[in-house]
Amino acid sequence: MGFEIFLSPPQMGGNEQKYVADVFESNYIAPLGAFVNRFEEDIKSYTHCSNALALNSGTAALHLALRVSEITQGDFVLASSFTFIGSIDAILYQGAIPVFIDSDLDSWNLDPSLLVKAIESLPKKPKALILTHLYGQCAKIAEIMEICKQYGILLIEDAAESLGAFYDGKHSGSFGEFGALSFNGNKIITSGGGGMLLGKDKEKIEKARFYSTQARENLPYYEHIDYGYNYRLSNVCAAIGVGQLEQIEQKVVKRREIFSWYNMALYKQTESQILEFMPEIPNSRGNRWLTTLRFLDAKINPLALVEFLAQKGIESRPLWKPMHLQPLFRDSIVFSNGVSQKLFESGICLPSGGALDKNAVDRISDLILDFIKSC
Ligand SMILES: *Cc1c(COP(=O)(O)O)cnc(C)c1O
Repeated sequence: MGFEIFLSPPQMGGNEQKYVADVFESNYIAPLGAFVNRFEEDIKSYTHCSNALALNSGTAALHLALRVSEITQGDFVLASSFTFIGSIDAILYQGAIPVFIDSDLDSWNLDPSLLVKAIESLPKKPKALILTHLYGQCAKIAEIMEICKQYGILLIEDAAESLGAFYDGKHSGSFGEFGALSFNGNKIITSGGGGMLLGKDKEKIEKARFYSTQARENLPYYEHIDYGYNYRLSNVCAAIGVGQLEQIEQKVVKRREIFSWYNMALYKQTESQILEFMPEIPNSRGNRWLTTLRFLDAKINPLALVEFLAQKGIESRPLWKPMHLQPLFRDSIVFSNGVSQKLFESGICLPSGGALDKNAVDRISDLILDFIKSC
């Protein structure tokens, strides 16, 4: 559909084109090249993670985290149910069994008490947890990390949406053994598709690097003892990523400003308990990748609002449909309290691209107010 305002379009604005021209100049278009290394170094210094591996998607990063952790056929892997499928695919690639954990209302992210309940009631110990920081807002990471430590569960953070989000001054994705970032087209920065695996253990990241280039042995001819994947990022994409990452702090400030504009414009509705924005947990700074809200009045149908805005040329979207409600996971194990289902049925993601100005946000907010009145 021809939208006038998109949900979260790419926003180029710095050195991206110049760096791509440098790549052409050098003819290191692909596979690797100087920008791939530079992108890894820049991500390491921004996130304060000691190891990083540039990949062609965030999904690949999660897959390699599970593979190098030897999570395999029949293993239980706990995961946030309120997330995007890319968070869960890797579990299926490894033949492992996802176990879904619902959200709580004060973070909209994984509920720590349900996590404990899941660990204590499963017939065998789960091997890992994939924890999503949804919409760039931090999950209750300190509490969750403590639980993982207590029960000996490997923590993998899905920080695909949360580049630029910090908890207690530390970057999301840098708490667990592994963290996965995504630079897909609609994320806060994009490399035209790409991802990054962050990790505490250098050896494990080096092993992931080996798997990401077809598990090729270090010999003059092609020798294969193990199998791998074609998961590395190209130098062209890395050049775009480097240019984008230089602007990450401005982008976070802008997305947070867009959130505050929506918040101001819809303030009366929050006061009168008609709607509620996604919270920000204490001691954290989310990136407000997307401004999201839910209606507290059941008369307001978010799908109808998405349709109403689309007719005005504005792209919006319902909140993620929880994994445990997906037909694909009809028979899977879930520890639920109804929260993510409620969020899905009552919530919406609003246009949040970095190029939006206050006039556009005010116009969208006025349309939302009109819609509310008509319900
Ligand atoms: C985008 C996203 C992914 C996957 O990233 P890709 O780079 O598209 O593979 C995983 N999890 C979440 C929560 C995402 O939003």
